[in-house]
Amino acid sequence: MSALSHLLNQSSDPSRYFAGDVFNEYEMRTRLSESTYQALHETIEKNIPLKQHLADEIAIAMKHWAVEKGATHYTHWFMPMSGVMAEKHDSFMDLLPDGRVILHFSGKALMQGEPDASSFPSGGLRETSKARGYTSWDCSSPVFIKDKTLYIPTAYFSYTGELLDKKAPLLRSLEALNKEALRMLTLLGKSDARKVNVMVGAEQEYFLVNKTHFEKRPDLKFCGRTLFGKNQVKGQELDDQYLAPLRPQVKAFMEDLDEHLWRLGIAAKSEHNEVAPSQHELAIIFNTASIACDHNQIVMEYLKTLARKHGMECLLHEKPYKQVNGSGKHINWSLSTLQGENLLSLPKTLKKGLSSLTRNDLLQPEVLRFLFILAAVMKAVDSYPELLGLSIMSLSNQHRLGEGEAPPAILSMAIGEELSALLKEFIYLIETGEKNTRSTVQDKQKAYIDLGVSTTSLCTVDATDRNRTSPFAYTGNKFEFRMPGSSCNIATPCFVLNSLVAHSLKTLSDSLEKALKERSNQEPLEEICAQILKDCFQRHGRIIFNGDNYAEAWKIEAQKRGLHQLKKPLCAFEDFLSESSRKVFIEQGILNEKELRARVHILREIYMKRLLLEAKVMDFMVQKHIESDVHRYLGDYAAQIFSCEQVGLNQTEDKRNLKACHQTLQKIRKDLKALNIAVQALNQAIHSEQAKKEEETCASLEQYLYELSELLTDLEKTLPEAYVSFPAYAKLFFDFERNDFV
Ligand code: ADP
Ligand code: MG
Repeated sequence: MSALSHLLNQSSDPSRYFAGDVFNEYEMRTRLSESTYQALHETIEKNIPLKQHLADEIAIAMKHWAVEKGATHYTHWFMPMSGVMAEKHDSFMDLLPDGRVILHFSGKALMQGEPDASSFPSGGLRETSKARGYTSWDCSSPVFIKDKTLYIPTAYFSYTGELLDKKAPLLRSLEALNKEALRMLTLLGKSDARKVNVMVGAEQEYFLVNKTHFEKRPDLKFCGRTLFGKNQVKGQELDDQYLAPLRPQVKAFMEDLDEHLWRLGIAAKSEHNEVAPSQHELAIIFNTASIACDHNQIVMEYLKTLARKHGMECLLHEKPYKQVNGSGKHINWSLSTLQGENLLSLPKTLKKGLSSLTRNDLLQPEVLRFLFILAAVMKAVDSYPELLGLSIMSLSNQHRLGEGEAPPAILSMAIGEELSALLKEFIYLIETGEKNTRSTVQDKQKAYIDLGVSTTSLCTVDATDRNRTSPFAYTGNKFEFRMPGSSCNIATPCFVLNSLVAHSLKTLSDSLEKALKERSNQEPLEEICAQILKDCFQRHGRIIFNGDNYAEAWKIEAQKRGLHQLKKPLCAFEDFLSESSRKVFIEQGILNEKELRARVHILREIYMKRLLLEAKVMDFMVQKHIESDVHRYLGDYAAQIFSCEQVGLNQTEDKRNLKACHQTLQKIRKDLKALNIAVQALNQAIHSEQAKKEEETCASLEQYLYELSELLTDLEKTLPEAYVSFPAYAKLFFDFERNDFV
């Protein structure tokens, strides 16, 4: 039993306490009247507004439950554009005229809050003097108790109704996608779905580092990454970290983490060592998008706070160290009906093997529905790669993408050889009108591998191997978007992906409805639909790439195909204002023009401010530490050379080394001056709101940061450890309590 279990005097069996601190389905059913419970479900399923008196009943039940569990406060919990979760705790307390207090919580307090909003970024949507901002309960994600406080997930908007957060666009995109998915299902003969949910499972990567060493590195502390450093002893070259046994300190941390997450109903499922030293991954069982998004925010918070409790720091930056893998956050995404049918599961008919498939099989409604969604996703990724790209762009994630360890900065889609062959066959059969498949097609059904060892049984292998290098891959019953970075709030990539797919579904359904209206004879719907899908697969086929995305040859091939190469973030954010973006977000009512502009403004501002912070920290580390480190070293070295010469020893090589070190210092000083001039120029550009100038100065600032990083890394190679103020990579990677050097 871990420490927390002891404390709570509970069984270590997680099924006894899983979701114990969540006002979940079970609590709702047992604590609310039948009619209120039904009404709340109507609100969750159909977005029908909740009546005030019902909200009052729910609030009272929640408060009773929360107080029973020791809560004294409640908070509206929201995701301002700053990227850090916001919460303002209010106690349940109300003063009575006779001096006593009662604990009170109203429907109004549950449904709406008004935090002072003047200090959150609004991108010009809210003047500081008109600071009103409101939070509104997102009842699709259950309330929970953490640190004696009832947490209420909310969306955040301004006095004039504009969205000011990351969650609300996600909620709107879910509505848009639900509408279009239901429309498509109805068109293709399935009218019992009621609702289509987006299901999301996030795989979170992170690094752990000894707290003492972390404290000594201002770059890790303030920027989340090392601004310089080299792995001089051992890194990931032996491939000996991935899935290696967990260190005891890490194991204890993960147990504690699991327990905290499980109490909040967060189904932490698999955790393991990742490729880089001291890098780990945690996967949570998928859930509806809104809940998965909230859960991932809690996961990141607990990773940080519990690592500290266990003497470590958790790094969520995408590229904390050079030369070893960075951290991503794969987003697994699928569509599911309310009844739990996964619309992305390969239909049974398609599993029987390509060579026995007939044209008629391909026209079956469940096959067409599956292909319709596949076509919509292909169309979305191929038509709007820049929008998908901007959804994951940040100062930190740009360091990770395209480093031969993560997807390259080119968007493509892997669907596996078998599904690709099937699409080819589909196109051929629909185009030629042939009744049966050609016999040339190779089957690649479930194969059996005999491991050749008598103690292991016969294993089945999947029809397609997984393509781990693709930025966007179909993995049997879901898509996996692999570009998002470890520190991102998944609400943004999810809302963009949902909006794009909703838009593509709409375009395809529009075409289908139009063709149905215009058909002259009674051509079957299935035939018309198949034609539309065939055209879509043909038009967007270039986005499919099942090969190695890390290979140089792919970059050339992708260019030939005219595929989109991600831009630098500062320019990428502008794509929120493109014609395509307007079509996708404004036309579907997900974000309006003002909100899009505000988002661009905020994203750019955050990017530039973070970059300025990196420059400031670099300046601080050089001026306050590295200069004196080098002087101390040069002084000692010069004295040693002098003494050696006194006794007649040849010091030519040492003098050369000494000179080289001094020259490196001179170069560092020169670059630092240039860096500081660029900082001034950027500040001026920001002040005068000159976008072009901002981009130029950011580019030169990044270049100086890079050059300084290289010089400092060189210096670190020269300086003996005793002269270096900052713990080197060897310490950051392998300084836990155990047998690290196995
Ligand atoms: P992999 O080994 O490819 O990373 P896993 O099967 O371990 O895949 O799943 C990774 C993540 O995908 C987990 O968070 C899991 O819950 C999630 N996932 C599985 N099925 C679905 C689905 N249908 N929709 C969304 N996410 C899913
Ligand atoms: Mg994965």
